[in-house]
This record gives sequence, structure tokens and C-alpha cells, in this order.
Amino acid sequence: MYVVYDINVCMHKYDIIIVGAGAAGLSAACAALARGRRVAVIDMGNAPARKVRISGGGRCNFTNTAAGYGRYFGENPDFVRGALARVTPNDILQWVTMHKIPIEQKAPGQYFTASGAAEIVNALVQDAAGADVFYNHPACDILHTADGFVVTTHDIKFAAQTVIIATGGMSYPNLGVSDFGLRVAKQFGHKIVPIRPALCSIRTDVFSGALAGISTMCEITIGRERIADSIMFTHRGLGGPAIYRATVRDLTHDMHINLVPGTDIMRIMRDAKHNAGCKSVATVLGKFMPTNLGRFFAPDGRNIADYRDSDLCEIARRVSDTIIPHNKIICAPISQAEVTRGGISTHDINQQTMESRIVPHMYFAGEVMDVTGDLGGFNIHWALVTGRIAGDAAAG
Ligand SMILES: Cc1cc2nc3c(=O)[nH]c(=O)nc-3n(C[C@H](O)[C@H](O)[C@H](O)COP(=O)(O)OP(=O)(O)OC[C@H]3O[C@@H](n4cnc5c(N)ncnc54)[C@H](O)[C@@H]3O)c2cc1C
Repeated sequence: MYVVYDINVCMHKYDIIIVGAGAAGLSAACAALARGRRVAVIDMGNAPARKVRISGGGRCNFTNTAAGYGRYFGENPDFVRGALARVTPNDILQWVTMHKIPIEQKAPGQYFTASGAAEIVNALVQDAAGADVFYNHPACDILHTADGFVVTTHDIKFAAQTVIIATGGMSYPNLGVSDFGLRVAKQFGHKIVPIRPALCSIRTDVFSGALAGISTMCEITIGRERIADSIMFTHRGLGGPAIYRATVRDLTHDMHINLVPGTDIMRIMRDAKHNAGCKSVATVLGKFMPTNLGRFFAPDGRNIADYRDSDLCEIARRVSDTIIPHNKIICAPISQAEVTRGGISTHDINQQTMESRIVPHMYFAGEVMDVTGDLGGFNIHWALVTGRIAGDAAAG
């Protein structure tokens, strides 16, 4: 690093400035260092990769062998193809193995650390050890000069020919987040896809707050997407993996919830009416869902034989196809969402290098872009992949 003193301002010069010391920024630093570049990483927070540290319930779900087209969402879904082909889940697994981090699969292909997310943070920090990392330095301004870029913080200016913006999303503001990346991209002519919470619970009154705490398997259909996973009833609405995954999808479609996937519940209730008429409807439903949930759909406790077919039909419809209209899907606030949907439009980013097509030598990595992964390790995977690609290309 060269330090140039200009009147009162201290200017630090590097080859590459990376804004953001999350998974994307640190893996970009590692790739750029491997090519012998002098790298500065600037972060507004007081510690590296704070989202990684709390991710996966403290176990960090860092990759998924299903990472591919179809598990990432944004206005330009094809964008992910190039990056995901260049750095694969196997590459990430190799990296984790190289760091001797014990791992485990929760579901086939879905990898967590066995010993805690801090191991991933330590690996990233170790790999980026050759960079100068400036914590507690929020970047507030960026200028494009004849010599490259100047990034301003409260007390230091950083100059470099190349800049990588890896400032992440807007969720979990208590960890320290900013819209700096979005502002910079906009300032340089990039389109910003409006942001919203994703991977979060939703508020709805279609069920009852009294069901809070109950969870069951379900199938959610939203647009052309079909999600089979567990759903959790909450005091104010719905959560659990199925709902989290639904919120990453296109929410301009109505959400259809089937609480008895793969079951013809009308046929079962009709059979029960004829063959076991003294059972309550809740008891019949209780074979396919938690009893209290069954009671919610048929609270009066009458025998199933006393129900008209049309009433059973209506219960079957609610059980197998509760609809939350698209304009009634209210996501939790972004402060409680795991990720941000939207961000810097990828239409003007080179999918092989992550370089801006508008501003040469400006790169983007991670969640700041309009790419959001499904639940299951896809977002940290994306941050690691695009960080590596951006760092490598920026250094090359
Ligand atoms: C509770 C929770 C659990 C999660 N669990 C998982 C999981 O198990 N698996 C998974 O794949 N994903 C998970 N995610 C999502 C995942 O953590 C993120 O998508 C990923 O970490 C994004 O990495 P990033 O480097 O792009 O951004 P970030 O990790 O957000 O890093 C951005 C960095 O930029 C810094 N920054 C921002 N603005 C400025 C500025 N103006 N100046 C300087 N620095 C700035 C921030 O301080 C931050 O350190 C989870 C998220 C949350 C909130």
C-alpha cells in the first residue's frame, strides 16, 4: 500500500478496493490476492462476515449441490448460469475441506458446518489475510477519476484502478447494512430493481393466531413454482421453510396452500362419512395433520355423518387449497427477512466476470445484485462464487 498525503487528507492507494467484508467481499479479496494484487477491504462494521456468523442458525448452510438455474430469482434469471458453471458446489466443498472444517448434510446436498459458522468466517479471514482490512469505515462516496476510483470514508480516502462493490442486502439492519452499493450503481447509470424482503414469514389472517406453533408438511403453488416443505403457523400469519421459500418467488401470483399434499381429502372424508360416520371431521383430518389444525377446520365436533357433502367439500377446499391473494401477501419487515430481493439489475453486468458493462473496472459481488437464492445455502454459495469470480477478473 502507498500512502500519499495531500494537504489534510490521507489517501491510501491500492490496486483493488473492495467495499464490504462479507462472504462476497472476502472471497473476492482472496482471489485478487492470489493474483498478487494489493487489496483494501473497507467495511462499515466492526467484524468480518457478520451475516455468515449467524447464518444457518449458527451452523452456516454454505452450499447446496442443487445450486443452479431455477434456484435463483431475479429479473434476469439466466444471469446466474455462467457464474454457477465456473465455480461449482464441489469447488466450495473443496475449499471448506482445505480449511479442515467439519461439515454435515442436513438434507441431501445441503451442507452445513458441523462445528459452527465461525469456522467459515475464520477461513474467509485467513484467506484474505494479505489484504488491508479497514473495519468501522463506512464508505460514503465514490468518484470515478482519470486514474480509477476514489472511495471516501470519514477519515481515509482510498484510490485504486478497480473497485468491487460487495455491500450485501438490506436485511438485518442491526448487523450494519447500507444502500451504498445501490446508490453507487445508480449513480453510475445502473438500473436498480426495487428491493423487498425475502426468505421471511408473512402476515395473514386466513388462519388463526391460536394455531401458533403448529407446523406441518404442505405444498405451496405460486405461479409455476411448486414448493413442498413444512409450514409453521404463527401468531400473525405463517412462517417455516415453505413460506420462506415462497417469499423468494414472484409474489405477483396468488399463493395456494395445500395442507394435505398428495391426498384426496374429499374422497377420504366421503369414505369416512359412509364407513365411520360417528367420527368427528377433526378426527378424520387429524390423520393427515396435527389434531389442533384439524379442529380449526371443523371446530364444532359434530360427527362426520351429520355433515352435508357440500360442507365437507368446502372443508376439503380450504384444507387443500387455501388461497392467499397476491395483494394480501404481506411479507415481514426487511429487518426480519434473511435476504433482500431486488438490487442492482444484472442486465448491465457481465455474467462471466461480474464487471459492470457501463463502468469498466467496477465489479459487483454477492447479494447486492438482483439475484436471490432459495432457502438451503444458495445465498452464501452465490456470495462465495461471485466474490471469487469478481476478485479473479478484477485482478486479471
Ligand atoms: C439470519 C440469517 C441467516 C442466514 N442463513 C443463511 C444460510 O444458512 N445460508 C445461506 O446461503 N444464506 C443465509 N443467509 C443469507 C446470507 O447470509 C447472505 O445472502 C450473504 O451472507 C450475503 O453475503 P454478501 O457478502 O453479499 O453480503 P453481506 O454478508 O451482507 O456483507 C456485506 C458487507 O458490506 C458491508 N457494508 C455495507 N455497506 C457498507 C458501506 N457503505 N461501507 C462499508 N461497508 C459496507 C456490511 O457491513 C457487510 O459486512 C442468512 C441471512 C440471515 C440474515
